[in-house]
Amino acid sequence: MSGHSLLVAGGGIGGLTAALALARAGHRVTVLEQAARFSEVGAGIQLAPNASRVLIDLGLGPALAPFAAIPEDLRVYSTRAGGEIGRTALGAAIAERYGAPYWVIHRADLARVLAAAVRARGDVELVLGARLRDVEAEPDGIRVLATVAGQPREFRTSGLIGADGVRSCVRTRIRGGPPARYAGRTAYRATVPIEMIPEDLRRSTGLWMSPKAHLVHYPIRAGRELNLVAVVEDSWVDESWSVPASADAFARHFGLDGPVRWPEPARSLLRLPNSWTKWALCGFDSRFEWSSGPVTLLGDAAHATLPFAAQGGAMAIEDAAVLARTLEAAPNTAAAFLAYETLRKGRTRAIVEQARKNGAIYHMGDLPALARDAVLRMGAATHLDDRVAWIWRWTPA
Ligand SMILES: Cc1cc2nc3c(=O)[nH]c(=O)nc-3n(C[C@H](O)[C@H](O)[C@H](O)COP(=O)(O)OP(=O)(O)OC[C@H]3O[C@@H](n4cnc5c(N)ncnc54)[C@H](O)[C@@H]3O)c2cc1C
Repeated sequence: MSGHSLLVAGGGIGGLTAALALARAGHRVTVLEQAARFSEVGAGIQLAPNASRVLIDLGLGPALAPFAAIPEDLRVYSTRAGGEIGRTALGAAIAERYGAPYWVIHRADLARVLAAAVRARGDVELVLGARLRDVEAEPDGIRVLATVAGQPREFRTSGLIGADGVRSCVRTRIRGGPPARYAGRTAYRATVPIEMIPEDLRRSTGLWMSPKAHLVHYPIRAGRELNLVAVVEDSWVDESWSVPASADAFARHFGLDGPVRWPEPARSLLRLPNSWTKWALCGFDSRFEWSSGPVTLLGDAAHATLPFAAQGGAMAIEDAAVLARTLEAAPNTAAAFLAYETLRKGRTRAIVEQARKNGAIYHMGDLPALARDAVLRMGAATHLDDRVAWIWRWTPA
């Protein structure tokens, strides 16, 4: 059954993809986004085939492709080994194997394309500067209480989808779910012009593994910039969850000033940005129900993950596709939301667990890293995409 009136709280990657998928399925959709404009921080995102496939199915292929880069290979490095220990082909090999590309893209470009596609439909109400505060039950749906541009405002809907991120108000306040907590890891993100990068590294995704830290880099903006994500295990002392960090502060925190741990060319890459943005990586206990009656959760609000499988955004995109499908078949939003949760929970838990395991492997201490590196050198690195085939092969059947 289609034609519900739905309210999506949060206009991030998950909320905007959901709005698009739901509107295309014939529902009336309102999106409340607390920010004054749709934007994403200056950093990249990897879109594996399971995510790019959904975005292409939504008709976004031609709009996204000019902004995406398609790395030729994934190169794995170990600081213990002092350099590269293996590589896996990406590029055309992935599109051929999975029927959809492995894209890397700037988040601002992805957000802009999603928002433009939603706006171009003309039938989705996008309300910016709108912060959801609470809900009240009504006989045939719910009343959503929000603050829009500082003024209280109410919205009536037959279904509320909380796509409001890891610190979701819908999860904690309305669903009584767990609060976000710091996961003991800090991510630093920065982008630099590609001209600053050695020619040999410009078309690759790189993963440097090191005790209690790792570095990922890949090209974005159709290859014009390089995105750097550097992760370190530590405690979080800042008041805000995302703060600017100077190059010097980063160098101290990442051990660039201490005993030489980061060999070239990682050391040079880590020295390139003038400033970084520092993020607290958060998670929460997954043992709670996402859905109750006409309320459910989507994306990080439901299943935030450590980013070490590069799948948080991809899972939010998958959620959107599945939610649109379950709403087609179910008699009402409550039944659809339960069916959606049942379809999504096993897979999202397995991916969150995979990300945790990847983190443990990337951050191994010197002795276990010796065995890890030996296995990768003996050929395992040439088939790394086999390890993620179960994630990348997904289609919204
Ligand atoms: C370092 C790092 C690297 C990553 N790399 C990748 C990657 O390569 N690939 C990948 O797939 N994923 C990656 N991720 C994960 C990905 O960024 C997230 O999973 C994704 O952004 C989640 O999207 P979302 O829409 O669920 O939540 P968000 O992007 O957090 O969006 C939530 C939105 O809700 C709004 N909001 C919050 N509260 C309210 C409210 N009360 N009312 C109204 N609006 C509200 C917020 O302003 C925000 O716009 C990475 C994450 C990190 C930290």
